Amino acid sequence: MNHCKNYIAGTWLAFSQKKISVLNPFTEKKIATVTSSQERDVDAAVAAARQAFASWSMTTPAERALLFLKLAAALEREKERLARLESQNQGKPIWQAMADIKFSIDNLRFFAGACRVLTSIAAGEYLGTQQGKHPIGTSFVRREPIGVVAAITPWNYPLMIACWKLASVAAGNTIVLKPSSATPLTTLELARIASGVGFPNGVINVITGSGESTGRMLAKHSGVDMISFTGNTETGKDITQCAANTLKKVHLELGGKAPFIVFADADVERAARYLVDAAIVNSGQDCTAAGRIYVQSLIYEKCIELAKKYAETLVAGDPSHQGTTIGPLASASHRERVASFMKQLGKHERIIYQSPVPRKGFFFPLTIVRDVEHRSVLCQQEIFGPIIAMSRFINEEEAIEKANDTMYGLAASVWTSDVTRAFRIAASLQCGEVWINDHLPLVSEMPHGGRKMSGHGVDLSVHCLEEYTVLKHVYLGLQ
Ligand code: NDP
Repeated sequence: MNHCKNYIAGTWLAFSQKKISVLNPFTEKKIATVTSSQERDVDAAVAAARQAFASWSMTTPAERALLFLKLAAALEREKERLARLESQNQGKPIWQAMADIKFSIDNLRFFAGACRVLTSIAAGEYLGTQQGKHPIGTSFVRREPIGVVAAITPWNYPLMIACWKLASVAAGNTIVLKPSSATPLTTLELARIASGVGFPNGVINVITGSGESTGRMLAKHSGVDMISFTGNTETGKDITQCAANTLKKVHLELGGKAPFIVFADADVERAARYLVDAAIVNSGQDCTAAGRIYVQSLIYEKCIELAKKYAETLVAGDPSHQGTTIGPLASASHRERVASFMKQLGKHERIIYQSPVPRKGFFFPLTIVRDVEHRSVLCQQEIFGPIIAMSRFINEEEAIEKANDTMYGLAASVWTSDVTRAFRIAASLQCGEVWINDHLPLVSEMPHGGRKMSGHGVDLSVHCLEEYTVLKHVYLGLQ
């Protein structure tokens, strides 16, 4: 059995002797153990990042870009092995794990370019002139890295989200990554690969441990300058409170409950197929998954029928098989959580389909529920499972009102052939991203982030690099 230590200052190190078991959610068997990091481990990782910051923050964007390109190339070389490991540890089908890794590689290549083109307002003379002739001073802005970033990442896209958080390193910060204790293996591999391509010791550190213990220590640590977190909204609140003591910058990508709104003039066959795929992506464990499907009354029955027909063709099974569409949920505790939501169905809500699932593994069946009530748990809470919650609406006003009426504000999609309506609705939705006639695509160049209780700050795009920097006004007196 493999025991993985923390990766701190370029060495595999663990002060704590406590271990956490890491399971394969399909076989339910232990595949490794990792360290349950305690205070000494956290202190060592933060100290290593702090020490490395002094020289890393002085590197040029070109030097950092080169290392990011080498890291991307190394992930490319190792992608088959990494995809297998991710699939074994997280439960996602192998093709999905491969797609995540390909996207992560593209993200790293993007960060390599983006760190070289960060912008701000032009330098210039803003304070008036000397007797109408000469400027009395020149102002310019320095964009500087913040310092030590602690990134706490979730179990749904372990490697990909760890790569997103490396944007902070491209911007000149050093990092302590804490992956979820359920899915730490590919993040530890990422550290190993990064050191192999020449990232200096201490620039990228990974420590393992539970959120309650190790995660909170990081959030409170006085040597950490910024927390970047992806996960549950309640956890985001706790982290914000822990960080308040030292007034750290906090960047939060939290839960979502994305509405998928289908108008009667949409291509209903395509929308019906996409709504299923968008709801059950990664077994529904995706913050932008289509959590609520709203279909205009005229096509509601047809859309349900088509979605059910398509859902019946999907296969829950062994994640290592290419033909598997739905893998197990990431952990037994998460399956219990999903099951508990399904016990709280509203009076009029009806399950019309549940897929067969293997007996072994933390599976939850693909479930279609119709006539979902707007105030019900199914419509308001993030379930994070392969549940398709369908309800109807009459007109545009009702669709917008319902779509905006949850505490979340991450993503949404609108399906219509009326471009004017699509743009009007995109402007009215209170969320960070809107797809028109599609759902889910993310690209390295565009921001991904939420509003309301879905958090603040963005991952991806040049804007995420900006978030990992701080501006300084420098003034040169010319008198
Ligand atoms: P969490 O928010 O608890 O887990 C995300 C990360 O935060 C993990 O690394 C976890 O560590 C860590 N963590 C947990 N508690 C704390 C804390 N108090 N302080 C610091 N770090 C902490 O997600 P859950 O496992 O509770 O998932 C529950 C629900 O959250 C899901 O059903 C889903 O609705 C939502 N979620 C949303 C995600 C998203 O992508 N936006 C991702 C994951 C969950 P560890 O796992 O080791 O305890």
